[in-house]
Amino acid sequence: MAKMIDPEFAEKVAKEGDKSLFLCYQCGTCTASCPSSEITSFKTRKMIRFAQLGLKDDILPNDDLWDCTTCYTCQERCPRGVKIPKIILYLRNLAAQAGYMADAHKGTAKNLFIFGHAVSFKDKHEKLRKSLGLDGVPHTTLGSKKALEDLKTIMKANGFDSLIGYKEEK
Ligand code: SF4
Ligand code: SF4
Repeated sequence: MAKMIDPEFAEKVAKEGDKSLFLCYQCGTCTASCPSSEITSFKTRKMIRFAQLGLKDDILPNDDLWDCTTCYTCQERCPRGVKIPKIILYLRNLAAQAGYMADAHKGTAKNLFIFGHAVSFKDKHEKLRKSLGLDGVPHTTLGSKKALEDLKTIMKANGFDSLIGYKEEK
């Protein structure tokens, strides 16, 4: 099937993502520098090219989009100063709004509802903290039920629970 080039989508990514998108001349330095591109099917240069051409259907449902770790190595090395991570994050926002957030990212996001943090907190962490002379539970949403409830209220008001498919267990 022929690929659907959508100039309006490309213009939107340049306008709301970053205008440096069209500076890319496809040298491939980003892919060669990218720790994720080395071990996954995600290829930075290719994703930027898709965006330049407005190949929306090759971007939004594409799981590769979620393999960028936002380490910024590509941006530091890009000879054209393309703000690659910013563009990728914008594309992810569009993908998430279209219902394509990767399952691994949804799982991480669900931790925010459970712990108030993107990472989990377990007994072993509590023990380790105590062994260092610290309070077992840090004074964050982990240690404050009210702070966690406040955070949940904000996330629900923004529709973040629906976006990540989170349902509170009763
Ligand atoms: S390093 Fe920059 S110019 Fe080269 S392909 Fe990547 S984004 Fe394009
Ligand atoms: S920011 Fe993303 S695309 Fe750029 S080098 Fe790091 S993992 Fe690769």
